[in-house]
Amino acid sequence: MTEFAPSGSRRAAVVWNPSKKFSFDLVALVEGACAETGWQPPLWLETTLEDPGAGQTQQAMEAGVDLVIAAGGDGTVRRVAGRLAGTDTPLGVIPLGTGNLLARNLDLPVDDPETAVRIALAGRDRPIDAVLAKVDDSGSGAVFLVMAGLGFDAAVIGGTDDGLKDRIGWLAYVEAGLRNLPGKPVRATLSIDGGKPITLRMRSVMGGNCGKIQGGFEMFPGAQIDDGLLDIMTISPRGRLGWLGVLAGLAKRGRSVDPSVDYYQGKEVEITAGRPQEMQLDGDHIGLGSRLSMRVDPGALRVRVAAD
Ligand SMILES: [Mg+2]
Repeated sequence: MTEFAPSGSRRAAVVWNPSKKFSFDLVALVEGACAETGWQPPLWLETTLEDPGAGQTQQAMEAGVDLVIAAGGDGTVRRVAGRLAGTDTPLGVIPLGTGNLLARNLDLPVDDPETAVRIALAGRDRPIDAVLAKVDDSGSGAVFLVMAGLGFDAAVIGGTDDGLKDRIGWLAYVEAGLRNLPGKPVRATLSIDGGKPITLRMRSVMGGNCGKIQGGFEMFPGAQIDDGLLDIMTISPRGRLGWLGVLAGLAKRGRSVDPSVDYYQGKEVEITAGRPQEMQLDGDHIGLGSRLSMRVDPGALRVRVAAD
């Protein structure tokens, strides 16, 4: 346990994304906090386009650090988490993105880097679920922590991280995107925990490890990040109201009787679409695929959160 390591012997690595714009001196902030709290000077590792975080985290682990701090957006966080999941080394987060959805869901400060650094160095370790996603036959897959999706509006949500000031704003944005939507819903099957496949004509399927997006809107009402379950939402506009029904269903946060938005839960889900769909993991577009599988790895990742 890092908490019991002799004072002055602990060391953190900071895996940071240099493409993020921020108005404070990250190096001075982290080095100052380390010095004050008895940590050694940290190991600094920059992400690149070619290696957005996994290789740097591997390097940090090989250097034997006690903590890896991801300083970046949700994309950097999920890549660092992908290497830390299944180990005892905790993840600290200094949010530098515009969405910062993992931080929001863990009540980490998104606009107070000084407090974020202190929590990373001196907070408590909270185990959370990690989710392993695989697209088509893509080798070992990738970890996500917030949500993954297949379909048009998943891509809209994933690709959007500005201007979602409140819930109404978000709905207006989605509605605007959907009115211009070409094509038709796709036939898809959903298999949850190996159960009988559910067949839908759908626009989008999303798997959520936690529920909050910007503006306090809950995409997955009541989702818990440490219950070992993935929350699943399908959007399949149908009936007389079509997209209006979807919007009404989302606005009512799952309490709608409209069948256009359905919610499920499971440990493992496999979605197969009749034709290739856009996919995203924690807001990163990962291209087109016809099959998305997601499996929860319960409590696999330790994240530094506020001590109380
Ligand atoms: Mg859950």
